[in-house]
Amino acid sequence: MRTGKGDDRRTDATVYPVGLRLAGRLVVVVGGGTVGQRRIGGLLAANADVLLISPHVTASLEAMAAAERLQWLPRDYQNGDLDRAWYVHACTDDPNVNAAVAAEATERRIFCVRSDDAASASAWTPAVGRHDQVTLAVFGGGDPRRAAAVRDGILERLRDGSIDAPRFRVPLSVPASEGLAPGEEWSGSPGALRSSGQSSAGANAVGHTDESPPDTGSAGQVILVGAGPGDVDLITVRGRRALATADVVLADRLVPQALLDELPPQVEVIDVAKIPHGRAVTQEDINSLLVARARAGQVVVRLKGGDPFVFGRGYEEVAACLAAGIPYTVVPGITSAIAVPAAAGIPVTHRGLAQEVSLVAGHLPPGDPRSQVDWAALARGGGTLVLLMAVEHLGAIASALVEYGRDPSTRVAIVENGTTEHERVVDATLASAASAAAESGIRPPAVVVIGDVVAMARPGHR
Ligand code: SAH
Repeated sequence: MRTGKGDDRRTDATVYPVGLRLAGRLVVVVGGGTVGQRRIGGLLAANADVLLISPHVTASLEAMAAAERLQWLPRDYQNGDLDRAWYVHACTDDPNVNAAVAAEATERRIFCVRSDDAASASAWTPAVGRHDQVTLAVFGGGDPRRAAAVRDGILERLRDGSIDAPRFRVPLSVPASEGLAPGEEWSGSPGALRSSGQSSAGANAVGHTDESPPDTGSAGQVILVGAGPGDVDLITVRGRRALATADVVLADRLVPQALLDELPPQVEVIDVAKIPHGRAVTQEDINSLLVARARAGQVVVRLKGGDPFVFGRGYEEVAACLAAGIPYTVVPGITSAIAVPAAAGIPVTHRGLAQEVSLVAGHLPPGDPRSQVDWAALARGGGTLVLLMAVEHLGAIASALVEYGRDPSTRVAIVENGTTEHERVVDATLASAASAAAESGIRPPAVVVIGDVVAMARPGHR
């Protein structure tokens, strides 16, 4: 039905900006590729109930479905799937499917975003940025890179204080998880790594010389970035700046999805999630991909959870770059080993109580011939133990520590999904750790802290 107001569906003149409050509302996403993954990151950050319809999905989306962050129907879209939806994203790589989704959405008067054809979509997604509870949404008149650049410029100025953001009233009282979703702030702009004078970013740093995207065939490089423990604003400023220079981002499963969602649309996101006991991309595949993309002249950001060099196989990727003669930079990250306990209120050291802390990989049980961990020595020492990747073998590890002499009443804290809105802390002792974890249904990722610091910081448990 035409209103006679013209047929100009392409200009921003007809866009009406609005903030959707999606918490608890059904949003249907058709298409589970990297575009869908990025959209879903933002939708989940807004606490939407996401229904994903797609016969195949990325490994990260599969993991999110397994963790029940979203509902996944592993099949093709069918007419009727939009029943009950408030909002729809059509992001398959088949324009006919997207058109069918859009047609059903129109029929039901539901707004629908199309990844392939903005001109015939009923809704557009802006470039979004957040700073201190201010949300920016920028439309670029059909030019998404322009929108992203404007957003980045404004955010940069909000961050450095050259645009004032005074408060005139107490912020709207909404549950923290609703109002302060991950995705707090976006900083940086193309070239920021260099223009900020951060030449100390690494001895091997090669930055762009101006604000334009890199020329293919010239600036190829790899930047290994630690994304922090989980909360989107626990990445470093330098990590953000590096992301803003990326042509392609290779991301692990544990990196905050909202970071990927904020990337400008032209940035390619490659999911190299490794799911325990699930399908896996090999380390060799990742190394060759890094090298191939950098050789093709791209700025490749390798985004890894926590710090790249703490149980992250980061140095294997550095070695691959060295062997191939590819320039690389390492941007350290905040490791979950220290930050997850800290965010849960547990100091890993404390004067007079713990003067040492050991970070231990618990993916192999004590006694496994491949294990290089000296559990007896760890049991004898009095320091704090921080175990990563230890959920599966927690029982065997706790028993070994007791067997080698640690007091069975030594306090244990298990922190699942630390620093995220899904964080849970389970208190136990060495004697009860395995059963407590099982009863609470603890699943990876979780950090296990063992030692007197737990008792001091969380005195309630008996
Ligand atoms: N390089 C990462 C660690 C990779 S090993 C870092 O520095 O943090 C993966 C393990 O990290 C997980 O099995 C879990 O033990 C821990 N981990 C990572 N993120 C976590 C989180 N948000 N909450 C709890 N544990 C986490």
